[in-house]
Amino acid sequence: MDNRPFIVGNWKMNGLRASLSEARAMDRVVSRHPKVEVALAPPFTLIHPIRAAVDLIRVGAQDCHPEASGAHTGDISAPMVADAGGDFVIVGHSERREGHVESDGFVREKAEAARDAGLGVIVCCGESDKIRSEGKAEKFVIGQLDKGLPLTEGAAERLSVAYEPIWAIGTGKVPTVDEIGEMHQAIRGKLVKTYGEEAGSQVRILYGGSVNAENAAELLSAPEVGGALVGGASLSNESFGAIIMAAAAMEEAE
Ligand code: PEP
Repeated sequence: MDNRPFIVGNWKMNGLRASLSEARAMDRVVSRHPKVEVALAPPFTLIHPIRAAVDLIRVGAQDCHPEASGAHTGDISAPMVADAGGDFVIVGHSERREGHVESDGFVREKAEAARDAGLGVIVCCGESDKIRSEGKAEKFVIGQLDKGLPLTEGAAERLSVAYEPIWAIGTGKVPTVDEIGEMHQAIRGKLVKTYGEEAGSQVRILYGGSVNAENAAELLSAPEVGGALVGGASLSNESFGAIIMAAAAMEEAE
């Protein structure tokens, strides 16, 4: 079990081969901060090139199809991600749930397929601003996990959960440390209930949504936050490197 803070960059639909220099620069930052685990989820087209360009950063995919192969035009399977050099998959990102009408059950199938292919899995969850304003955020997120967490043998190994309130993604708005702490504690309870005390308490819970160099230290200090899933600020080494250094400074201060 890796207890280091896990800082993951989600490049979404951004990045061409010209971005490899950014990934190399990030890798150099990581080499100076071994107390932080760092990963990038670039578009599928860059998984293999980034894997070849970096030494320390883990590389993974932003999605996968539940089936290993077949007539699914435009989709990529978990074994294909592994074959390209990826070692984890993000599933259930709100942009997939909304833009591709993905249900919790479909998210679970993807997570289980990724696990079967030997990949790490990051399951995303998070509520809309409407749900939060109605006071139903916790119930909604735990419901997403109830139907979306992988349940196959050994599913909790190499599993992370990313709490990403939809209203915080790409908006510059962030929950308070107390709000993050409350949600992460509820997620921890769900993980322990699902996988048992030992396995469930080892799953890292990441916070995602408008994390940047300025707020990273505060957000990472919230209870039960084991790392961050970073979108916009992961595209350049200037901002992502600063987030990695903020996480490292917290570890080194302990
Ligand atoms: C994300 O979409 O996973 C994300 C956290 O985005 P951003 O950091 O840009 O809010």
